[in-house]
Amino acid sequence: MPQEKLAVGFFSFTADEGCMIEFLEILNKYYFDWAKVLDVRYCKQLKSKNDFSALDVAFVEGCISSHTESDKLKKIRENSKYVVSIGSCAINGQPSNLRNFFDEERKKEIQFMLDKFNHLPVIQAPPEVIKIDDFVPGCPMIEAKFVEVLNKYLDTFGVVKNAHTGL
Ligand code: SF4
Repeated sequence: MPQEKLAVGFFSFTADEGCMIEFLEILNKYYFDWAKVLDVRYCKQLKSKNDFSALDVAFVEGCISSHTESDKLKKIRENSKYVVSIGSCAINGQPSNLRNFFDEERKKEIQFMLDKFNHLPVIQAPPEVIKIDDFVPGCPMIEAKFVEVLNKYLDTFGVVKNAHTGL
């Protein structure tokens, strides 16, 4: 069924939030077009009231480093029709999973921090935790690929075509 707007959410997990900074940069170009077709229900970088109880598409950046993050990602999956990984951290874990490659001595040095914050022994990429439907590669994510994937879902949900043909 065609719909007026695509319900989307943007979620940051363990990383430097560089892909969300890239998203905010991309908004400089597309804000007025996307305001017509996107219902941004969750994006802590843009708004203070957020809700992800029912999303068409969830975009996730970063890695999963704690049980809390793992549980939240699974909840996002339950509440979203599609989930897209944005940026290489959310695809294969790199570069934010560096501690996975520490030697035993360095791992012992940081163990107290992992215990203190209830972190997982090994950092996971989102595809290791849930099913991911699409990927936007790059570090930070590649603008053209993000726009391509977003347009694909606007089409999938039949969101008013004229509103985004100029993208
Ligand atoms: S992929 Fe690169 S830019 Fe994006 S969150 Fe990870 S480190 Fe930052």
